[in-house]
Amino acid sequence: MSSPCSILECGTTDDRHFEMDDYAGTVARWCPGCGDHAILTAVHRLLANGQMKPENTVFVSGIGCSSRFPHYVETYGFHGIHGRALPIATGVKLSRPELDVFVTMGDGDCCSIGAGHWIHAIRYNIDMTVLLLDNNIYGLTKKQTSPTTPQGLITNTQTKGSFLPPLDPLQTTLGVTNASFVAQTADWMPSHLAATLQAAKEHKGFSFVRILQRCPVFTPDVFTDAIKDPDVTDLLTHDDGIHDATAERIYKSHLFHDPSDITEARRLAEGDRTRVGLFFRDESFPRYEDLRAVPKRTPEEKIAFINAELDRHAV
Ligand code: SF4
Repeated sequence: MSSPCSILECGTTDDRHFEMDDYAGTVARWCPGCGDHAILTAVHRLLANGQMKPENTVFVSGIGCSSRFPHYVETYGFHGIHGRALPIATGVKLSRPELDVFVTMGDGDCCSIGAGHWIHAIRYNIDMTVLLLDNNIYGLTKKQTSPTTPQGLITNTQTKGSFLPPLDPLQTTLGVTNASFVAQTADWMPSHLAATLQAAKEHKGFSFVRILQRCPVFTPDVFTDAIKDPDVTDLLTHDDGIHDATAERIYKSHLFHDPSDITEARRLAEGDRTRVGLFFRDESFPRYEDLRAVPKRTPEEKIAFINAELDRHAV
């Protein structure tokens, strides 16, 4: 970075140039080989490519391995409570719409305790970039069955194998009214991951990206086939989709898919194949922040408004 002052204190200068390292927070404490490291690198690259101002960028998370993300990104951040990343991010964005808001959640965090918030956040379609780091397990609490755990996988909570077929986060998101951006990528596909994050960041609305994420400690085998054999992965391609020449060379199974076609997107989200790319995008869908008419108030007017509200309910 060109400026000598701290990254978060330099908001008034306009000659700053940020390198990836400038966005690095504390040293990540994830296990060696954890897919979260690759995702973190991709996020640092995304921020540097966009020269995103740290003071205008916020990462919000819940609880879990992936929810340590805000500590590792030198922007503003909020390491929240379990399952509540989306309500917190909603509050941030509605209060400060000029900020770029990112949310990182794990599959336990988002799809279990946070599932109600997840569904309604999709429908509200507030402009934020939401990353689901899906390793198919509760990692932080040591191998408990999560909603996306494959059926039959032995865990510490279901020692004879996970009972139920897993919930599919793509199908769920695509099934919610007003879902406006749904994509899937994987931590072991760095260029595709980068291109997907870029597309998600550019989308105006609730961008939902499910990232298949390796957990070599508790689910070391769940993505083995997809990692070792490129032929089990289908790459969604389209002029309006996600473009990654490297992935197109490596992954030979291409599915031409128009991301404006929600019915086909839902069909493609089904089945056992690993499919990556842009499933659906529509920027014309209404966004809650545009519909919600809140008058702009000065700090003094806000305090007066709150006091008037309190007086109104006084008994
Ligand atoms: Fe990553 Fe799994 Fe270790 Fe958590 S337990 S840090 S998800 S490898």
